[in-house]
Amino acid sequence: MTKQTEWRQDFVALSRDELLVKVASQMSNKRFQHVLRVEEKALEIAGKFPMDLEKVSIAALTHDYAKERPDEEMIARIKKSQVDQTILSFGNAIWHGVMGAEIVQEELGITDAEILQAIRVHTTGDVVMTLLDKIIFVADYVEEGRDFPGLEDARQLALTNLDEAVRYEIKQTLLFLASKNQKIYPKTIDVYNTWVANYKEDLC
Ligand code: GDP
Ligand code: FE
Ligand code: FE
Repeated sequence: MTKQTEWRQDFVALSRDELLVKVASQMSNKRFQHVLRVEEKALEIAGKFPMDLEKVSIAALTHDYAKERPDEEMIARIKKSQVDQTILSFGNAIWHGVMGAEIVQEELGITDAEILQAIRVHTTGDVVMTLLDKIIFVADYVEEGRDFPGLEDARQLALTNLDEAVRYEIKQTLLFLASKNQKIYPKTIDVYNTWVANYKEDLC
């Protein structure tokens, strides 16, 4: 999938190059390269759907915009915001998406609700996900720089059955976190229960 170098600028009042400079200014080169690979993968997945590819690019390029912000700034922002305050005990792994949406809106002037939501849920997924949410969630997981057991299966699913790829990622992330005795954000469990768990309605 070739990247569009000329944007209509419907979603951000910046050229692609200007946005790249701003994103790069927020992070290490290593993370910036990850962001570019997420864009590449997201466009590859999106190519199979009738989608606005400019929107896909912008969501991918901004998804980790807030990942390297100091904890103090993130904590202050969370305390001032309406978001679930229990995220305070989960660290930047959870903060950077939830608060990243707000930071991207404030600093890059992106107001498109779908782009902001894709940033917001890119780490945990969500009980209900739009196509754009799924594409960014999965592209982040299977971009070409990643390396973990099961990656080839996830990569194939990403291109053949996006919902299965979402399910696979949710399950593997939960297993990974549990195997490391990591604290699991309750929303991660809700998402697992919705997307992965089998249950019998008549027991409810
Ligand atoms: P990245 O920003 O490109 O590294 O990728 P993500 O935003 O998807 O994930 C950031 C980190 O959050 C990863 O190490 C995930 O394993 C981790 N993560 C995802 N869900 C949870 C959770 O419920 N609890 C914790 N502690 N970490 C999580
Ligand atoms: Fe992230
Ligand atoms: Fe990422």
